[in-house]
Amino acid sequence: MDLKELYQTFRDPLIMKALAKKINTKAKQLPYPLKVMEVCGGHTHTIMKYGLMQLLPDNIEFIHGPGCPVCIMPKERIDQAIDLAMLPNTILVTLGDMIRVPGSKGTLAQCRARGGDVRPIYDPMDTLLIAKENPTKSVIYFAIGFETTTPMTAVLVQIADQQKLCNFYVHCNHVLVPPAINAVMSDGRAKINAFIGPSHVSVITGAKIYQHIADKYKLPVVVAGFEPVDVMQSILMLVELSIATDQHDVTPEMLIQYSRAVTLEGNLIAQSKINEVFELRDVFRWRGLGDIANSALKLREKYARFDAELIFKTHLSTKPIDDHKACQCGDILRGLAKPNQCKVFAKNCTPTQPMGSCMVSSEGACNAYFRYLGLNNNALNKQPNTQK
Ligand code: SF4
Ligand code: SF4
Repeated sequence: MDLKELYQTFRDPLIMKALAKKINTKAKQLPYPLKVMEVCGGHTHTIMKYGLMQLLPDNIEFIHGPGCPVCIMPKERIDQAIDLAMLPNTILVTLGDMIRVPGSKGTLAQCRARGGDVRPIYDPMDTLLIAKENPTKSVIYFAIGFETTTPMTAVLVQIADQQKLCNFYVHCNHVLVPPAINAVMSDGRAKINAFIGPSHVSVITGAKIYQHIADKYKLPVVVAGFEPVDVMQSILMLVELSIATDQHDVTPEMLIQYSRAVTLEGNLIAQSKINEVFELRDVFRWRGLGDIANSALKLREKYARFDAELIFKTHLSTKPIDDHKACQCGDILRGLAKPNQCKVFAKNCTPTQPMGSCMVSSEGACNAYFRYLGLNNNALNKQPNTQK
């Protein structure tokens, strides 16, 4: 079986139909409406692209979470990237969509139009090539991502260390999934009672990082793959877990649906690379979620000479900057609103002219709603309900 055939199985309409039928039957036994937060933007994308909301009964609802590293980047960190890019003899390198997210000084793309040397890349390794090709310039990697991309940044730093590169720096914005889930849950306003756990993150960390979520908040967690059949099967598992938990008065379980890639322990080599290079930051300000303790990483003392925040400290302001008043990204990332409830959605805010970060990234909830849902679609009327 080739790769294409394999993927078709995970998008097979007959399998989807059968799963939808099973979910609709079983969901009648649910003791309460199931409000499922998908933490990962990749899942949001799949849900919208394949119209999964329309396949589910009314007592199951998706609530979109803070799972895209582009969406959660606060304005002041984007401003810092712009300030760095505008320094003389400096090249700022970053991944994909990041250059289109507006800070208070515009976007990195606009900064490039004003003369800043900003270079988008697909492979972080290119940063080292750029540093070697430009020995007289400071090359700063604006590193973003959850636990998925952190090992790659760790490897970059270690190679730069071994090769004694003197013009390579990292502005570290690597964030962690469990503290973000804790922040959403401890806020208490979004009444979520089930989680779909991220898949790529879990390949690295192992599914064990969600066990405390299941234990602490007494709700089921299923780590799901990205294909539509994966997500539907995960919903079925969450329905069954919720019913069993209620009927037998037991603690909800954390299960792995995406067992073809995720184990409980994860990738131990990648974890050790992360631990060698990074340590916990005391606090990181998330767009929409505010300050969360121990929710991000910074370079260890041993690698401090690569830390752009230390080396270029005098050029960087750390003053928090709030979002535009009309933008509801914060409510969306907390599961309190859906994109179409934002007054400027599809009017003043579109993927070509985004006002907020959730419209920029292809994994952002606003972007996915804009791309995949007709604005009059009935599924849009399923609003998040803050009552259990
Ligand atoms: S795969 Fe990882 S980085 Fe991508 S959206 Fe999901 S959690 Fe975020
Ligand atoms: S539609 Fe635009 S302005 Fe509104 S929440 Fe989404 S990104 Fe923010």
